[in-house]
Amino acid sequence: MSKVMSVNCGSSSLKFKLYEMPEEKVITSGIVERIGHDDAIFTIKLNGEKIRKILPVKDHGVAVQIVMDALLENKILNSLDEIKATGHRVVQGGPYFHHSELFNEDTYKKIESLIPLAPLHNKAHLTGYNAFKKVLPNTPAVAVFDTAFHQTMLPEDYSYPIKKEYAEKYMIRRYGAHGTSHKYLCEIGESYLDGDDKRMIICHLGSGASITATHNGKCVATSMGLTPLGGIMMNTRTGDMDPSVYYQIQKMSGKDSETIFQEFNKESGLYGMSGTSNDSRDVEEAALNGNKDAQLALDLWSRRIADFIGQYYVRLGRVDMIIFSAGIGENSPESREWILNRVKEALHIDIDWEKNKVRGQIETISSPKSSVKVMVIPTDEEVMIARDAYKAIKE
Ligand code: AMP
Repeated sequence: MSKVMSVNCGSSSLKFKLYEMPEEKVITSGIVERIGHDDAIFTIKLNGEKIRKILPVKDHGVAVQIVMDALLENKILNSLDEIKATGHRVVQGGPYFHHSELFNEDTYKKIESLIPLAPLHNKAHLTGYNAFKKVLPNTPAVAVFDTAFHQTMLPEDYSYPIKKEYAEKYMIRRYGAHGTSHKYLCEIGESYLDGDDKRMIICHLGSGASITATHNGKCVATSMGLTPLGGIMMNTRTGDMDPSVYYQIQKMSGKDSETIFQEFNKESGLYGMSGTSNDSRDVEEAALNGNKDAQLALDLWSRRIADFIGQYYVRLGRVDMIIFSAGIGENSPESREWILNRVKEALHIDIDWEKNKVRGQIETISSPKSSVKVMVIPTDEEVMIARDAYKAIKE
């Protein structure tokens, strides 16, 4: 038995989950939020109870120390040596990483070189890694890339029709995201299918959302692009649009490109169109109360997802299973219904609407006569990170 920590560092947050491996038993989990502030929030789950403290946390180094102190004080660990490996989520692995890698000088430099492609994320991941390295200098650390699963795409699936010079010099192409989640869902989904030719469409519909087409465990196509801004419409992101929308808004508003990029990421999508909130539940409620902007936003959201499902159906030539996952996909029967109603006729899908009422649990929601199996499968990116970290110490 070995203790392994799954880590997800953002620019002002540090999420962790400590596992007993290989049993995959969660020992504890928590988060430090608002790093860099005097009123940062540290939450840790101990024996099923959430403990929350407000305290100053200057930087990620302090955040890691707080987490480790809590683990020792609460006797979850007798010594930090008990942590045998850490696994760090890394958003952008560029063209370099097809699978998880042990952190070494080369891994570090490559992640660093990719900062221009994911400025907030990759920088924060390295800051987090450095903070852990100080406290656990001899513990192997593994980088687990959101982009790795999508590296099997063909050039015709990942290239953009831009000048070759830009594609090569600036490494501009589709990399996708949520790869760790899609890989997890692909493995579980395939275990529910017979035969040796398995084709699936995986809908990870959370606050960030992406759709992936898979064939026999490999990614064929994915909706997110160079950055997570691409693909389907999301809670606050636009998803794909005519690129001239960017140009036109910039020209007419006089705002700089960075401001508009931030608006497209943080103030668009369901939130921007409805003017309500960045939580899809509020948008649903507003639509139910007759807010027409909210209704149009939800209609467009469902339409965009249905269109991607149609596109990927053609790309795969057939589809055996459609999976719904993440915050909205797992918990909103209504959202699944809006999407499925838009694809069911063309794809000969028959849904058991009673089963579709499921929330947060694995369930087959299609009826036996459906041509495509439709499942709800809760995702678990953290356990995938822990598995890869554990694999590294076993090898
Ligand atoms: P995630 O990014 O996967 O954590 O998903 C967050 C999104 O899931 C938010 O937009 C939430 O509104 C949505 N969500 C979470 N729980 C529910 C729920 N019970 N019903 C509908 N949407 C939910």
